Amino acid sequence: MLSIFSTLRSAIGAEAHSPDALVEPAGPASGCSSAPTSKPQSGQTLGTPVASARERDAGASVNRRTLLRVGSVAAAGAGGLSLFSSSPAQAVTPASPASRSSSGRGAVMLSMDDGYLAMDVVRKLLDARGQKGTFFITPGLLNGSSKINETHILAMVANGHEVGAHSQTHANMTAIAQPQRIIELEQPKSYLENLTGTAVTSFAYPFGTASGGRNLTTDLDLYLRYDRAFDTAQYNQTALHSRYAQAPTLIRRTCIDGTNHQQCLSMIREASVRPVVASFFFHNLDTSINPSIAQLTEMLDLAQSLGVELITASDAFGSHRMVANAGFENSGTDAYPWRWFKSGSAQLEIVTENPQMGLPGQRSLHLSAPVSTYSTVAQAVEVTPGTTYTYSFRARAVSGSTWGAKSSYGNVVALDYGQATIAGSEVRTGSIMAENVAWAKYSVDFTVPATSTTVLLGLVLDWPAAGGRVAFDHVWFAPKAMADLG
Ligand SMILES: [Zn+2]
Repeated sequence: MLSIFSTLRSAIGAEAHSPDALVEPAGPASGCSSAPTSKPQSGQTLGTPVASARERDAGASVNRRTLLRVGSVAAAGAGGLSLFSSSPAQAVTPASPASRSSSGRGAVMLSMDDGYLAMDVVRKLLDARGQKGTFFITPGLLNGSSKINETHILAMVANGHEVGAHSQTHANMTAIAQPQRIIELEQPKSYLENLTGTAVTSFAYPFGTASGGRNLTTDLDLYLRYDRAFDTAQYNQTALHSRYAQAPTLIRRTCIDGTNHQQCLSMIREASVRPVVASFFFHNLDTSINPSIAQLTEMLDLAQSLGVELITASDAFGSHRMVANAGFENSGTDAYPWRWFKSGSAQLEIVTENPQMGLPGQRSLHLSAPVSTYSTVAQAVEVTPGTTYTYSFRARAVSGSTWGAKSSYGNVVALDYGQATIAGSEVRTGSIMAENVAWAKYSVDFTVPATSTTVLLGLVLDWPAAGGRVAFDHVWFAPKAMADLG
C-alpha cells in the first residue's frame, strides 16, 4: 500500500508544471501541484465503526425527489402478480410530490478544496452568519504546513457543514489504473466517515475535467461510491444550476479566483430572484488566485441580506441516484426501502455476497420462490414524462435450473398510466440463466409514457416452474442521457 502512495506522490509532483497546475489554482506557498507532505491516513483505527457510517451513507443516498411509499401497500393477493402484469392493480396510491419547494428562491453552494488552514477561517465566517459550506478534504494533504488537521474537520461537522472527499492523495483520476483509482475513491470516504461518524457522499475531482481528470470509466467507479460529483475547473463560467432538477452528472462550480468578484456577486443576486443554485469553489484566502477575506465576506453578507441561503452540497443537489438502497447495503433482514410482495412460502433474504466486477458493497438481495409462487421487490421513482431511461441490474440464478415462462426479470410499471408495465421495459434473466451461473449485467432502455410522472421499479421472481432462487444487486435507473453507470 505504501508503495502505491509513494508512486502517486511522485506522479503528483511530476504534474507541478503541467497544464493541470493552471487548471486548479494553488497558493504560492503550497497547493494542488505540490506533493503531499503527510502520510495517507488509515481510517480503520479511528472513531465510529465503518458499518454504521456505511448504513447512514446508504440511507443518505435516497434522492430527495424519489418517492418512496414504504409500507403503504399491502402484499398482492395469492394467485396473481398484478403489479407486474398488464392488468391494473389497486394497491398503490401515488404520493404528492411534497419534496418540491414552491418558494422559487435559489441558494448558494460554497465549497473549498484541498485543506488549507483558510478552511477554518471560512468555517468561522460561515458560522457567524448561520450559513453552511462544503469542505472537500484530501486526507493525504492533512497536517502539513498551512494545512488543517482532524480537529478542524471535526469542527466543520460539529457546526453543520458538509465534509466531502477530494481523493486520497490528489491524484489525477485518469492517469492511474482502476485499482489505484478505487483506493483514491474509497480511502478518503472511509477515513472521513470513521473520523466524523457522518456519511461522506460528495466528491470533487482533483484537477478538474478540463485537463482530462474525468472520463466514463472514472465516473462509473465514482458514481457507485458517491451521490454527487463536482468539477474543479470552471474559470470565468457562471455555474448556475436548477435548484429542483435531478442532480447533474457532473456539477460545475465557478472558481472564485480574486478577479471575478463582481461576477460572483451577480450570481448571488440571481439566486435571490430565481430558483437556481449558485455553485462556487476556491482553495485559499488572500493569495493572487483566491478571494480576499474582504471579498468573501462581501459575498456572504450579500447572500444574508438578500435572504439567499448558503446550503451544503448534498442539500443543494440531492443525489444522481434515483434508486434508494440500490446495492442492498442498507439492509438488515429486509431490503428496505424496497417493498416486498410474495405468495405462499416465498422468501426474501439479504445475503453477504457481492458481484465483484470492481463493484463496491458486501450484500445482495436473494429472492426465492417454490413452484407456483412469486417473490418480488419494488420501489417508486419520479420520472420526466416522455424521457428515455436506462434500467439495469446485476443478477445470477442461485438454484432452480428449470425456469418457467417468465420466471425472473426486472420491469418498470407506470403508476399513473393504467399501472401497466411500460412497453419495452422488461428485461428477463430467467430464460437465459442456468443454475448457479456467474453474475451478469442486464440492462434495458425504454421511454416512459408522455403522461407518466411516477414509475415502479420491480425485481421479480415469478412462478418458477420447479421453484428457484435468484440474486440481484446494483440496480441503476437514470435518464439514458446520463449513460449507464450501474
Ligand atoms: Zn485540489
